[in-house]
Amino acid sequence: MKKGIITGIIISILIIYGGYSLSTGSETESAVFQSSRQVQVSVKVGEESQSKSVKITKNKLKEIREEPEAVKPEIVEEDRQQEQGIEADGNQEQEIKEEAEETVKRFSLIDQIEEYRVKKGDNLWDIARRYGIDVDTIIGANDITNMNKIKPGDIIRILPVKGILYKINPGENLWTISRQFDIDIDEIVKANNIADPDLVKPGRLLILPGAKPEFGYKERLQRKFIKPVNARISSYFGGRWGRMHEGIDYAVNLGTPIKAAGSGKVIYSGWASGYGKTIIIEHRKGLRTLYAHNSELLAHSGEWVEQGEIIAKSGNTGRSTGPHLHFEVQINGKPVNPLSYLR
Ligand SMILES: [Zn+2]
Repeated sequence: MKKGIITGIIISILIIYGGYSLSTGSETESAVFQSSRQVQVSVKVGEESQSKSVKITKNKLKEIREEPEAVKPEIVEEDRQQEQGIEADGNQEQEIKEEAEETVKRFSLIDQIEEYRVKKGDNLWDIARRYGIDVDTIIGANDITNMNKIKPGDIIRILPVKGILYKINPGENLWTISRQFDIDIDEIVKANNIADPDLVKPGRLLILPGAKPEFGYKERLQRKFIKPVNARISSYFGGRWGRMHEGIDYAVNLGTPIKAAGSGKVIYSGWASGYGKTIIIEHRKGLRTLYAHNSELLAHSGEWVEQGEIIAKSGNTGRSTGPHLHFEVQINGKPVNPLSYLR
């Protein structure tokens, strides 16, 4: 990958700690530990992400952010002495310290989340009852689209309280989230063992005690989006050439009208790295659709659009080989398989 291409890149580092997974960090990075030092790093360029497992130190975390292409699995064995030997370097050093502090806090949150392995005959309702939570809490903390399709061996994250696991979106902070979900900010701070609310960055996962999922299990069963175009799907959601394809591609001719899959507010209309001319619609808090590679954007930021309204004309902008529409559905910032949500 060339450096130029990576400008505007989103790096996410997924860390799985003790078998639990959690993604967190800033809008350009997030991290989940596999063990104290093993980290799943995914580098995201436009609509695709690629991940690999690396050993990591907090110095490395900083390096990755600055030079994503330098991430190599063989690098980095933690060298505490070297870390301790770092000379103070003004703000930069302070930043590293803050990051480290945040990392420590993350573990406290992770410790509270349990993991349950589905057994034969289990259903979500029984599991929820056993843990004293509700089905929506399980749904909100896991990628479950079909309640009746959990199978033995599946791992389900169990929150310690009724509530939701929420990923902070860019532009949000504890104060906006507190207002949105009508939870006292002190309660969020306490539940997540946050030392300094100012240091909490987008991308981090929060437990919001008592919060109702903005997208409950009953609604997940209703497929309410319409297809943005009537065309052949040329690429599906999921693994593709060793990378993760975060949406579906529709093969369309240049200039084909693109429809809003559902009504909502246009929260982005403009150029996005990799995606080209892009529109993002927020249908309700935590539920978004994204339309990429357009030739022309007809809906503008801040505008309300109705389902079926023409919002763009298809194109070939961004990282695209031939005209197509790349369509994503995101729940709480995380891409999900659009086919599960289309009528
Ligand atoms: Zn695509």
